[in-house]
Amino acid sequence: MTSRPAREAPLYLDFAASALPAEEVVDAMLPWLRGQHANPHADHWHGQRAARAIEEARESLAVLIGGYPEGVIFTSGATEANNLALKGLLGRARPRLWLSGIEHKSLLEPAHVLARDGVQVTPIDVDPQGRIQASKLQDQLAGDSKPGLVAVGHGNNEIGTLQDIAGLAKFAHAHGHLLHVDASQTAGHYPLAAIDDELDLICLSSHKMYGPAGIGALYVDPVLLGELQPLLHGGGQERGMRSGTVAPFLAVGFGVAARLAHQSATQYRRNMDTLLQVFLERLEASGVHFSMLGHPTLRLPGHLSLQFPGVSADDVLTRLLPNLSASTGAACRSGELRGSHALRALGLSEAQAGQVIRISFGRSSLLTEANEAAALLADAIRSATEVQDYTAA
Ligand code: PMP
Repeated sequence: MTSRPAREAPLYLDFAASALPAEEVVDAMLPWLRGQHANPHADHWHGQRAARAIEEARESLAVLIGGYPEGVIFTSGATEANNLALKGLLGRARPRLWLSGIEHKSLLEPAHVLARDGVQVTPIDVDPQGRIQASKLQDQLAGDSKPGLVAVGHGNNEIGTLQDIAGLAKFAHAHGHLLHVDASQTAGHYPLAAIDDELDLICLSSHKMYGPAGIGALYVDPVLLGELQPLLHGGGQERGMRSGTVAPFLAVGFGVAARLAHQSATQYRRNMDTLLQVFLERLEASGVHFSMLGHPTLRLPGHLSLQFPGVSADDVLTRLLPNLSASTGAACRSGELRGSHALRALGLSEAQAGQVIRISFGRSSLLTEANEAAALLADAIRSATEVQDYTAA
């Protein structure tokens, strides 16, 4: 094994978890953290200047998703946006919800709460690559006359698979249901066609698209605003849909991130493809065994979910610690390490889910880093395998 000089900081390959804000974003935010700050809901000059900056950001988001500014509701992040979509629309008047087991917890957990409150929640099947089985869903939707909502992640954060949201919207609408799309991982990277009536609700997360953490948005087709019930009550901000002071510096940063993403989506996807190609070629050449999870082509840009048979992903990440930050397919809850719910919903055993590593590149990743990361990972896999072989002997 080659010994490498220590790095100042590990390579960061966990952009799917959180992406470093773009420089342009930080630059645009700073004045709003300094002298320009004011309460945007105040009537005075300073307040109105902040309010205008927030409305500009709202417009940038509307352009990005192809929707109307009046449909954009700022929230604290995608978790709140998903909660608002589900809890705000489902209940006695709309008592049906369909979603798959690979969805983010911020959809699955509100679904559990709603099920306790009488909403009928039906699981949607996905194939082994994580694609929703459209014909089965169509049968499920056709067999129910009560109005409901289909909730789906556009790009799965763990395995990277993309869903055909236009197709799903057609099915949902054909049976009188709504489609809510969690676009946290795809907004800015793929077009979203809210304005063509394809999508009824869209959830966004600023820190996944090179904006600041702590802000997100729910886009609601304006015709549905009368039906949506707020989760937070108070000063009636965001047209009564989400009370609480909107932070100008966060909204401005989110708006700039949306504009940057809109301008560079095609180039971004190309760059991510090149990084993945370099990384995978180097990893394959190293001779370590792995398989790729998720769909081979319909997947998030710059995202890999790799299973390394026979090794513990946790052990590998510990070995990578001074050099590379990535994530595992396992999450620690209440001190107990469990394979991710999404991997288990795909049919992986607990042990198999524990062999999965997620690598996600981003805007600032370099080709040299892709090369270096593959070499580091291969070394770590080899040393983890040697230890396992030794313990097994
Ligand atoms: N949905 C998806 C698909 C995500 O990847 C995440 C973040 N992991 C969220 C929702 C929650 O986002 P936030 O951190 O903005 O609450």
